[in-house]
Amino acid sequence: MIIVSKYEDSMKAMRNRSELRAIALLSGGLDSTLAAAIVVNLGVRVVGLHIATLFDTDRKRLEHITTAASTVGIPLVTTDLSTEHLEIVKYPKHGYGAEMNPCIDCRIFMLKAAGEMMKREKAQFVITGEVLGQRPMSQHRHALEVTAKESGLGNRLLRPLSADWLPDSLPVAEGWIQRHDLGCMQGRSRKEQVALADQLGIHDYPQPAGGCLLCEKTYSARLRDTFCYTGKNKMTKPDFSLLKYGRHFRLSESAKTIVGRNERENAILAGLNRGYVQIEPIDTPGPLTLVMGNPTVNEIHLSACLAARYCDHTDQTSVAMKLIQQGEASVILVSPFDDDDPRISHWRIE
Ligand code: SF4
Repeated sequence: MIIVSKYEDSMKAMRNRSELRAIALLSGGLDSTLAAAIVVNLGVRVVGLHIATLFDTDRKRLEHITTAASTVGIPLVTTDLSTEHLEIVKYPKHGYGAEMNPCIDCRIFMLKAAGEMMKREKAQFVITGEVLGQRPMSQHRHALEVTAKESGLGNRLLRPLSADWLPDSLPVAEGWIQRHDLGCMQGRSRKEQVALADQLGIHDYPQPAGGCLLCEKTYSARLRDTFCYTGKNKMTKPDFSLLKYGRHFRLSESAKTIVGRNERENAILAGLNRGYVQIEPIDTPGPLTLVMGNPTVNEIHLSACLAARYCDHTDQTSVAMKLIQQGEASVILVSPFDDDDPRISHWRIE
């Protein structure tokens, strides 16, 4: 009798599974791909969701995510929430990690977006590739509880890779999915993920990399500097983008100089110039430089000397630089800073 009843339950679950729908947050990495694959293999219809922010360091991210979705055999929706995400970066309720990474608030933000999609798509739950204990700030037990609760998903959030270590989510509690079909991974080792990927025939996935500018020391130093001297309230999307490019120097409370490092960055900096003083060499290859804030005449001159230090000149004692200020162009001759001028390291923001 017990056996028959279990069989009927199991059949009921199986019958329901084909009607189940879930939203899988995909990052393009192995963990989120595996999490989606596990649930797809259980017969649930899954839709992948990728949320784009400004802080991705992987230029091939979308490619990796598209590959992940097609490997698992699910449709993919991508959404750009980079503007909304900036508010989380400016004012994280749960604070920052080792750098300027507001991981807990960021996870809540992404889970909320997935929850909204879950409602729109009439899905029953959301899947993530989170692994208990894998990341110091956002994947310890308390953080997993907080993100599930504050995103509003609660037990509609399934973390298939670590489900055996966590309280039952709705799909398990309802018997739609059996606990023993889910994973019991924890910690930072990736051996189990790699073994499972082999088992599931998933071979094309990127190696884990940094991934997020907000975890990087240099970007975070620039962000702290801009929060301090520009003010969070005044910062808009291009201000955050500018922090990605060039060498940054804080000359004074009211003057900051950005010197491009290559042609690509020069072009990007020119495109992000919103009325800043712009400096370019005339007769020699060299960087495009922006001077921001409210610089004095002397600070503009010093910025030109600094920019000249990065020009391809050979022992020139003076370099001609074109200056564009408030739409007016002029030419100045400047002496490049010596390579070991202490002001360079003193001003540098890193
Ligand atoms: S590493 Fe970056 S993208 Fe990932 S949760 Fe933290 S802040 Fe968000």
